[in-house]
Amino acid sequence: MILRGIAASDGVGLGRAVCIREESLDYSAVTYSGKETEKARLQSAIDQFNERTAHMAEHIRKQVGQKESEILTGQIAMLADPFMLSQMQESIDNGSCAEAAVDAICTMYADMFAAVEDELMRQRATDVRDVRSRLLSILLGTAGVDLSDLPAGSVLVAQDLTPSMTVGLKKENVAAILTATGGKTSHSAILARALELPAVLSVSNVMEAVKDGDGLIVDGGEGIAILNPDERTRNEYLDRQEAFLKQRAALEVYRDQPTVNADGKQYSLYANIGSVKDAEAAAKSGAEGIGLFRTEFLFMNRTSLPDETVQYEAYKAVSQIMEGKEVIIRTLDVGGDKAIEYLGMEKEENPFLGYRAVRYCLDRPELYKVQLRALLRAGAEGHNIKIMIPLVTCVDEVRAARELLEQCKKELEEAQIPFDKDIALGAMIETPSAALIADLLAKECDFFSIGTNDLTQYTMAVDRGNAKVEKLYSPLQPAVLRSIKNVIAAARDAGIPVGMCGEAAADPRLLPLLMTWGLDEFSVSASAVLATRANIRRWLSADAARVTDEAMSLSTATGVEGYLAASVAQ
Ligand code: PEP
Ligand code: MG
Repeated sequence: MILRGIAASDGVGLGRAVCIREESLDYSAVTYSGKETEKARLQSAIDQFNERTAHMAEHIRKQVGQKESEILTGQIAMLADPFMLSQMQESIDNGSCAEAAVDAICTMYADMFAAVEDELMRQRATDVRDVRSRLLSILLGTAGVDLSDLPAGSVLVAQDLTPSMTVGLKKENVAAILTATGGKTSHSAILARALELPAVLSVSNVMEAVKDGDGLIVDGGEGIAILNPDERTRNEYLDRQEAFLKQRAALEVYRDQPTVNADGKQYSLYANIGSVKDAEAAAKSGAEGIGLFRTEFLFMNRTSLPDETVQYEAYKAVSQIMEGKEVIIRTLDVGGDKAIEYLGMEKEENPFLGYRAVRYCLDRPELYKVQLRALLRAGAEGHNIKIMIPLVTCVDEVRAARELLEQCKKELEEAQIPFDKDIALGAMIETPSAALIADLLAKECDFFSIGTNDLTQYTMAVDRGNAKVEKLYSPLQPAVLRSIKNVIAAARDAGIPVGMCGEAAADPRLLPLLMTWGLDEFSVSASAVLATRANIRRWLSADAARVTDEAMSLSTATGVEGYLAASVAQ
């Protein structure tokens, strides 16, 4: 059986399905089995919780840091509180099953913490809620798959792949990824590419069609998966996998070559990252800098806000890994498709048009300033850090962010803490409004970076993760191309550098246009660095200009796509 979806990350993977199903914490069917049995069930669940949490904490300590792991060890300490345990036991004495006792007592504590003024205390409410759900899932036997302990050759099958699921993921054990939702630029796709794992997304009914242990072939380039393939098909795809890996290996010759076009014009080729760990992969990939550090990942996978020190250490670490090369760090881009549970943001009718990114941060200056201070501090000591604001729509937002930045500088100065006085502040151009007023924004910004993932979504009014409208979602739509051209021209007129960190920066079809218009910097996923360099090196300026003229004379996306695909293939 062939399953079709969106080709999100290239490569061929063969293996066995591991399905990650949403767990239900409904315990209404559980019957009370007497005081002693329920208390024993509770104790055994707590023991299992402690063992698993200690294991996770150790993993996070090694991968992320001591401070982050303390959030988990803190949860163990919370459950060790004899008062909390005795309240749960009392609830059992009064006739509740272990699940109901855990639910009632944890909810009581969570509500109590949530009502307190102090931000730190309020964050403990999130911790208690987390303890509640994990204890319930142990009691109900629905505890999810442990992604840090997958058998080799696992094909992950999930509704969606969230960053928190991938915390402990061992890449070498995963053959491929299949999900029921998501598009080419959704975060699961970006994660898959960062991990260099083949992925097909938005496969309809995948959760119903696939069972644990089913054989699967995933062709991330074609956007198909084959369920329980026969021997002949398996062999055919093993050959394709080998060919793909050979092709990738052939790009190695470009690792130490400069990023210049065929007549020697130089471009910057950077990588996009989401963590300190990704920076290591970026450094190895041959990237000449970081064009986008998505800092929201630093805020996810935890139960409270990372403080200034945690953030400062992370930004400094990335800069050190990149050995002082330019590192563009985007401030928190929360909301839309990037949920951070402990911030307790309300559900919205239109999250992509709602309270998110810079809008949220400017509304919470106490939170935003922590990040700005950490960035300013990390920019000291020769670290080449630039700050980038996401989802800018008007000049006031840039001015307000700059104003906060100036306040932070003053505070640091007074406290005699070293920081980068001249740190650059730039804007992501990823909304139609920003693209239309690029000339005005250019006067307020030190640089631009074009975010085509959102620019395409907002220009075309298509949800970037909705497979049903995927046909319209293309950066090669004439409307999006005109917008990109306008932004680059505005930056050039104002004399500020302009890059692109949306996924389109790695699209070989778009390269001649971007080169002709004068884009300075291409920022792509680590896995696309060498291919992009190879593609840039192929183009003569005159050929790229001719192709650009022809492409811009066409009036449909299919026309542009067909023409550019043929030009690139020549
Ligand atoms: C973009 O919108 O193009 C972008 C790079 O940001 P993100 O994908 O994180 O929204
Ligand atoms: Mg964006």
